[in-house]
Amino acid sequence: MTQGLLLFDSSQRLVICNQRYLDMYGLSAEIVKPGCSFRDVIAHRKQTGSFTGDVDRYVVRVLRDVGQRNAMIITTPDGRSVQVVNEPLADGGWVATHEDVTEQRQAEERITHLAHYDALTDLPNRTLFHEQLKQELPHVAADRQLAVLYIDIDEFKSINDSLGHMIGDELLKAVAVSLRACVRETDFVARLGGDEFAIVQTGVTGADEVTELVHRIYDAIRAPYECLGHHVTTDASIGIALAPQDGSDLDQILKNADLAMYAAKAAGRRTHRFFRPEMDAQVRARRVLEMDLRQAIVDGGFEVYYQPCLDLRDGRITGCEALVRWRHPQRGIISPADFVPIAEETGLINQLGEWVLTTACAEAATWPDDVRLAVNVSPVQFKSGTLALKVMAALGASGLAAGRLELEITEAVLIRDDDAALAILHQLRAIGVRIALDDFGTGYSSLSYLKRFPFDKIKIDRCFVTDIGEPEGSASIVEAVVNIAAARHMTTTAEGVETEQQRELLRALGCSEMQGYLFSPPRPGADIKPLLLAHRPMPAAASPDRSRRRKPAA
Ligand code: C2E
Ligand code: CA
Ligand code: CA
Repeated sequence: MTQGLLLFDSSQRLVICNQRYLDMYGLSAEIVKPGCSFRDVIAHRKQTGSFTGDVDRYVVRVLRDVGQRNAMIITTPDGRSVQVVNEPLADGGWVATHEDVTEQRQAEERITHLAHYDALTDLPNRTLFHEQLKQELPHVAADRQLAVLYIDIDEFKSINDSLGHMIGDELLKAVAVSLRACVRETDFVARLGGDEFAIVQTGVTGADEVTELVHRIYDAIRAPYECLGHHVTTDASIGIALAPQDGSDLDQILKNADLAMYAAKAAGRRTHRFFRPEMDAQVRARRVLEMDLRQAIVDGGFEVYYQPCLDLRDGRITGCEALVRWRHPQRGIISPADFVPIAEETGLINQLGEWVLTTACAEAATWPDDVRLAVNVSPVQFKSGTLALKVMAALGASGLAAGRLELEITEAVLIRDDDAALAILHQLRAIGVRIALDDFGTGYSSLSYLKRFPFDKIKIDRCFVTDIGEPEGSASIVEAVVNIAAARHMTTTAEGVETEQQRELLRALGCSEMQGYLFSPPRPGADIKPLLLAHRPMPAAASPDRSRRRKPAA
């Protein structure tokens, strides 16, 4: 029998006990024998060290309850767990069984641990985090606030994808260790899942204390990690909500911390934000915009405008850039600067981009043969791997020669060692499509991108054109870019040219082409065709108005 067993009569005298019971506690058969009292047994156990409580108090408690079945788990001084069950008998006595449940208990504890702790980092998981937070929330007060910090590792997915899951896992473990080192005993850290962590800071008297913690967190996680031979650097977006001021029930405070993190991400990541009530409205507005965007893709709420690009030497229109416009039923025209990022985040840019491409190719096929079409392509469109096919389909359907199509990409396409994107660019180049590097000078502007792919054109961002005429302006930067481009057989287009002076300076610096309000803003397709036809035979013209004036002389 695995259980220790004792039978007592109605006068609490031992009737019988088995050997297993004596063995379990190392008791003497001389003392624990038929006829001895329940109290004698417990006193002997106290003497021999397997019972540490108060003998009389324990005896009184057990005797009080012997009339009904009762069970308890006791812990012995040597650390075992024993389940004791007292079962009443009809004659007023009782049977006691003692069972060693140590292993069973340990297994249960392991399971409970697994249910409450994250296996990778051993931090409390979301469930336990919620439980702990729920316990803390009732104790908050104005002078004893509680801060919930949501911490989201920036670009974790790309680390995971480029360096592998092993390194990704190591990084998460290292982050867990760093975070734990940042907090006090009374705070707690949890891993909510994936690359999301959370900290609850308790006993906070003001936002300064939270900001201090945030700085400690940044110091800790921004330090480069040594992960399986790789130097990995990381950063995070942190959203913070305070109880009671931002809410004192669990759902509210979690939602607000989440909104604040969302705001930190929207602010460009690598930063933190405290919750503010207007964030709620902003996120709601964005969700509405996202829904409208989906609907507009189904209903066709978009148009393509075209902005001409001029040769700076002879004033010829060399091409037009397709720029999408969204005519919102209630809000009127919405700028692509406002909806393209949402379309990119939701993946809707794939459908939208394909539509722009087909529409613009069909339009450009009706233009004079020497006018090119430029189409903006988002980095997201490179991810599906079918971009080259879609481009070929659009060219095929419209009959536009591949050599007349130019795709404008930003360096974000090449930012990671993305061989897949590079392969697509080479495919496009192989079918005769030209590739331009857009917005040059605004991002990392690493010259290595120019080495990685032989671009046909560099587009110099408007910010360098705006101040080109000023004494401390960007003329020297533009000149440098023009020289680099020339050395690698690329042309340059200056964006956002608004004044004659800018145009003259750009021409003098050797820039090849210009685009901007000086000549024409983006216009609907129906307006651009007459412009192209009217302007085409005009030599060295600077603006459509002037070209019209000169027309009689030509
Ligand atoms: P971008 O490719 O850099 O386009 C140039 C932007 O500058 C356009 O803004 C254009 O209207 C504006 N612009 C042109 N000349 C001037 C000027 O002289 N002065 C000023 N102040 N602005 C000028 P738009 O049309 O609002 O487009 C904004 C951005 O949205 C584009 O920047 C591009 O990144 C994106 N975008 C537009 N259409 C598409 C599209 O079909 N697909 C993708 N992926 N992105 C698009
Ligand atoms: Ca562009
Ligand atoms: Ca641009």
